[in-house]
Amino acid sequence: MTLEEGEGLLTIDLAAVAENYCALRARLRNGSRCGAVVKANAYGLGVEHVAPALYAVGCRDFFVATLAEGQALRKLLPDDVRITLLTGLRSGQEATCVRARLIPLLVSTAQLQRWIAETSVDGLAAPCALKLDTGMTRLGMGQGEFACLLSQPELLHAANLCLLVSHLACADEPEHPQNRHQLECFARASEALRTVCPQVESSFANSSGICLGEEYHFDVARPGSALYGINPSPGQKNPMRPVVKLRVPILQLRQVDGDVPVGYGATQMAPSGSWLAVVRGGYADGVLRAQSGRGRGAAVVAEPDGCESRIVVPMIGRVSMDTSVFDVSALNDSQRGRLQAIEMLNDELTVDEMGAAAGTIGYEILTSLGHRYCRRYC
Ligand SMILES: *Cc1c(COP(=O)(O)O)cnc(C)c1O
Repeated sequence: MTLEEGEGLLTIDLAAVAENYCALRARLRNGSRCGAVVKANAYGLGVEHVAPALYAVGCRDFFVATLAEGQALRKLLPDDVRITLLTGLRSGQEATCVRARLIPLLVSTAQLQRWIAETSVDGLAAPCALKLDTGMTRLGMGQGEFACLLSQPELLHAANLCLLVSHLACADEPEHPQNRHQLECFARASEALRTVCPQVESSFANSSGICLGEEYHFDVARPGSALYGINPSPGQKNPMRPVVKLRVPILQLRQVDGDVPVGYGATQMAPSGSWLAVVRGGYADGVLRAQSGRGRGAAVVAEPDGCESRIVVPMIGRVSMDTSVFDVSALNDSQRGRLQAIEMLNDELTVDEMGAAAGTIGYEILTSLGHRYCRRYC
């Protein structure tokens, strides 16, 4: 263990990200391109590493959330990528957006008008995209306003629209009727818009949306989570390769005498004779406190042949800011003597599972991963 790894080692497998991208792309219908969502620092994994890895396997359509993320990504990648800002644009940001050649996702006629006013050269605005709400009721133009917009072809032409976007609310539940409802609405809108502006492409599917089938793919898909190993079809075997591993050092290994309460709040008892491993990694490192007493880890044991074996052990007591505690009583004396570390995330203990233990989703686990670990890319 190097000095830096002393605070925990977070390994991010860029080859797995690239492979996940290629696997998703291979599922798309003919003629549909695969983009990549790299917002929030590529879901916490490091956009400066992840984006070039995706570029190298052919991705040219990138999606980020904010203007600052877009500016940073523009500097990071060659000129031939298209970068779209998913959370749109605040008034006053137009010039910065155009300078970095970023495409804002506009959500109202007023925003379109402003975009035209602020960015037009010789009667044509800089390229922009339109977000339509088809049932998610988050960002997006409502159906009524969209119908109105369709009757203003001069406005649409002047706006230089290149992409129509909508987002699925329930794509991870294939049977949910909302999926079909949103699909029908989006297909109609996309068709209608194309009669006015034939060059406009359509983008609908996130990771789970890709799994819903070819009708959902349209021109450009926008997967994020599945690239990073999150299961796009919960309840079924995960088709994606896991991307992150988290291995934390043991700060203290101790046997308790007597039945004792463990951690803040004395919420859980360790029976007399229990062996406890106190590890680096607490809620300030993204080990969510909500998984207190429910999380699991893998005790890594060095074998005489130089390999390592793993034994799954439970977390015990509350997660603290810098540490958490695992009950390693399942290990025998010999194994305990060869205990190397605890893995909180690996190929078996997935971000989806950790998310479930904390009552949340793998997305939140990834975007919470701490900055005190040594990060290694492979
Ligand atoms: C985050 C996001 C995505 C990516 O979704 P995943 O479920 O991570 O694949 C796609 N589109 C929009 C609008 C988003 O906000």
